[in-house]
Amino acid sequence: MKTQLTGMSMNQLTNWVTAQGEPAFRARQLNDWLKKGAHFEDMRNLPASLIEKIKSLASAQAARVIERHGSKLDGTEKLLFGLEDGHTVEGVIMRYHHGISFCLSTQVGCAMGCAFCASTLNGKLRDLTAGEMASMCYLANRMVSPSAIGNLVLMGSGEPLDNTKEVFAFLHHITSTDSLNIGARHISLSTCGLPDQMHRLAQEGLQITLSVSLHGPNDEIRQQIMPIARVHTIDAVLDACRYYIQKTGRRVVFEYALIQDINDSLDNAQELAKRLRGMQCHVNLIPLNDVKERSLRASTKVQVERFLNCLKALNISATVRRQLGDDIFGACGQLRAQRLKTQLSEEGSQ
Ligand code: SF4
Repeated sequence: MKTQLTGMSMNQLTNWVTAQGEPAFRARQLNDWLKKGAHFEDMRNLPASLIEKIKSLASAQAARVIERHGSKLDGTEKLLFGLEDGHTVEGVIMRYHHGISFCLSTQVGCAMGCAFCASTLNGKLRDLTAGEMASMCYLANRMVSPSAIGNLVLMGSGEPLDNTKEVFAFLHHITSTDSLNIGARHISLSTCGLPDQMHRLAQEGLQITLSVSLHGPNDEIRQQIMPIARVHTIDAVLDACRYYIQKTGRRVVFEYALIQDINDSLDNAQELAKRLRGMQCHVNLIPLNDVKERSLRASTKVQVERFLNCLKALNISATVRRQLGDDIFGACGQLRAQRLKTQLSEEGSQ
């Protein structure tokens, strides 16, 4: 693979540029282009001889946009990125009244096996690099210009805390002035609940929002839909959340996808409220997107409303998450799964 320039700090890029026999100031020029999502042919203030030299050694953008699906309903755009080794991953641009958010992937596929998720259908193929994640942000930012991405959500395919080395490097990079300078408080990282890695994240000195996929009020229910719950108990996950709150002063967000007859009863809501009582937290209720490959059905609107009201009555801060991009394969991993399926059927018919 070619050297990926997009995840490099200014120091690393300067070292790389000078190692090619070029003056250090070229690194600043190069970086200004990279973070604009530019390709080599866009870099008009760099000598053609320099571009020719580095083109053979490095990629300007470590990802490229190969599909773009815009929602007619709400302006959400689902992007499919191609990587140098031929893998694909998804990203989503979401437009809210408070600004533009970009949801990105952290792995190709996912090893965690959550029953409601299309990203995990073929397991994990590999981790994404910091350079690939930064490149996806740069390309998405270029697409929304003259506006800019104000919020990042690490909630696409992959478990971010199963790729801590690259994800932590990416987080430090993207929050720096060398990169998009996105405030850490405008970044959310979503995990299915890996307690050791949550402790490590708490020690990184980043003020990001930790979002934890709970999806059940007890081990029995979580184990039905999240294989990782057989390894880590809900108590261990909630203890790690308390540690994160204590270290960062940030409230934790719990994601709870409501699934018919599995986790959406009033008893479930009461048990959840009991577990979270006294914790600085917020519960995001998610109406499930049907995943055709799995036999899970979304809770009805009435049931979602009842669950929400029960939590609120028990003094738990909770909202129902707005579903964006329903008409463009909204659930994580569905666009990639769709493309893989098309590729397979094309290969099959050849
Ligand atoms: S929900 Fe997240 S952690 Fe679970 S399988 Fe999907 S991508 Fe992985």
